[in-house]
Amino acid sequence: MDKKDIQGFENAGLAEHLLQQIRRESRHPIRLMEVCGTHTMAVFRTGIRSLLPETIRLISGPGCPVCVTAQEEIDTFLAMAREEDVIITTFGDLMRVPGTHTSLQQERANGRDIRVVYSPLDALEIAVKNPGRKVVFLGVGFETTAPTVAAVILEAEKQKTKNFFVVAAHKQVPPALEALLESEAVKIDGFLLPGHVSVIIGTKAYTSVMEAHPIPGVICGFEPTDILQGILMLVRQAEAGAATLQNAYSRVVTEDGNPKAMGILHRVFEPEDAAWRGIGVIPKSGLKIRETFSRFDARKAIPVTVPESPPPRGCACGQVLTGVLSPPRCALFRKRCTPEDPVGPCMVSSEGTCAAYYRYHMD
Ligand code: SF4
Repeated sequence: MDKKDIQGFENAGLAEHLLQQIRRESRHPIRLMEVCGTHTMAVFRTGIRSLLPETIRLISGPGCPVCVTAQEEIDTFLAMAREEDVIITTFGDLMRVPGTHTSLQQERANGRDIRVVYSPLDALEIAVKNPGRKVVFLGVGFETTAPTVAAVILEAEKQKTKNFFVVAAHKQVPPALEALLESEAVKIDGFLLPGHVSVIIGTKAYTSVMEAHPIPGVICGFEPTDILQGILMLVRQAEAGAATLQNAYSRVVTEDGNPKAMGILHRVFEPEDAAWRGIGVIPKSGLKIRETFSRFDARKAIPVTVPESPPPRGCACGQVLTGVLSPPRCALFRKRCTPEDPVGPCMVSSEGTCAAYYRYHMD
């Protein structure tokens, strides 16, 4: 092991110890999926992949919310942006995601009113300041962002705001894990589970998936030593033939998660079947606005029709998002598809796997 590689870690001594343990204990080849885009970026940034023994293969999963947003949803956002008197508000990551014909960035250049916000509350403020316009917030994200969006819908109701709307395109992580485990094409021996999502949903949210499809799973944080600890725990389970859920992030993740946040989420949203890029429709994996709050539903207030939307030609994001293909094996990687001129969302998002491979020169 090269000590130089880990000297930048926040706790190089512990990192070295964990790496030694991993190398000593990993005997059989395993494929571990880091489900979360933040883990993917941390793994690349820290160079952890290159420090692991050859027996361990880390593959990236569907944990980048912008990347898993279906092409049809992107086209719906774009169609709404072209409607009269509409202001679209969105997090910045979505701006450059290519739709079938254009992107939010291109639509803005064409004169559409599209604004990047840092919180859905900013979108509500824009609505209050523009009573004659329809202000739409694009609700993309996992269980980490959905409660905040739900809270803003409750605030809009309290303020009796009539021109604030949300496109509910949120996704839930546990149903996606189930879909991956049911897919014959996807080969996974263990999951590194997302720390921040788990803070909200709690460890028990994974129980039914893990019972139906026993597999090693470890919830872990985002520091290099958190990730190495998670990998070590997965190696130990795999070598012992165990398949349980372990929590290596117990300093912030509890069994029940954040009941207050989940209460707000469930008050405003209810589960619905949702299409994921590359995976297809996953039962009960999306969140739609409940009928009680339907006046805030942008799909109802601003109905648009989009034709069937095929993924960008030649883009293998779907296979990348399920860990079936690594980005360098996509024919467009580094050629027609770069962060400056992306073909698919996995090259756009700061959490996208293709962007990570590109940025950290992995081929
Ligand atoms: S490299 Fe580009 S085209 Fe290929 S899968 Fe990734 S985003 Fe799609």
